[in-house]
Amino acid sequence: MNIVLLGAPGAGKGTQAQFLTDHYHLKLVGTGDMFRKAVTDKTELGAKAHVYMQAGKLVPDELVFGIIQDNLTHGDWEKGLLFDGFPRTVLQAQELDRIVGTKGAKIDKVIFMSVPREMLIQRLTNRRTCHSCRRIFGSDAREIKDCPVCGGSLFQRGDDTAVTVSKRLKEYECKTQPVLDHYGSKVVHIDGSLTIDEVTKKLISSIE
Ligand code: AMP
Repeated sequence: MNIVLLGAPGAGKGTQAQFLTDHYHLKLVGTGDMFRKAVTDKTELGAKAHVYMQAGKLVPDELVFGIIQDNLTHGDWEKGLLFDGFPRTVLQAQELDRIVGTKGAKIDKVIFMSVPREMLIQRLTNRRTCHSCRRIFGSDAREIKDCPVCGGSLFQRGDDTAVTVSKRLKEYECKTQPVLDHYGSKVVHIDGSLTIDEVTKKLISSIE
C-alpha cells in the first residue's frame, strides 16, 4: 500500500507519518528530513537545498527528484511507502506517478489533512523537535527544554520562525495546493485540527 500525506506545513503530517509507518510497517519517505540530513552531513546537495529551506522556499524540483531517486532506488518497497512532504508540486506528483508506475505499483491513498491558517502558524512557531529521538512536540513545547520521552534536548527548527513560516505557507498555497487537483477524487479529507489521537483514528479508518 502506497500512501501520500498532503497538508500545509504544520498540519501534523510528520507526527502522523511516524505513527502510520510503524503501524503499517511502511517505508517512510520524508523529503524534509532527507534534506535536513543532507544539510547536517554537509553534502553538496544539502548546501544547495539549505539556501531555499532557510528562505522558506521550496527546493527546486530537479534537486528533489535527485534525492527521491536515490532513496527509492536503494530502498525497500515490500510493504509499501508513505510519503510525507512529497509531492509538493504538480510536476513532483507526475514524477511520483511515473516512478511507482515503473515498479508496477500505484498511489493507493492520498490523504489531505486540513488545518486553519491561524492554527498552522501557532503550531509551527511553537513546535520543538528532540535532537536525540527526532520526536516533534507541539503547542506548549515552547516551555519545555528536554524531551519528555527520551530526555534529549529540544530545539526549534531554523525555518519555524514567524517570518519564514509565512513564506512557507505562501509557497504551499501557490505550489502545493494544486497537487490536490492532480489527485482529484482520490483525495480523502481529514480534519487535522483535532487532537493527535483523534486524527490518528480518522487516518486509520480512512486507510482500512
Ligand atoms: P518539511 O520538513 O516537510 O516541512 O520540509 C522542510 C523544507 O524542506 C521545506 O520548506 C522545503 O524547503 C524543503 N522541502 C521538503 N520537501 C520538499 C519537496 N518535496 N519539494 C520542495 N522542497 C521540499
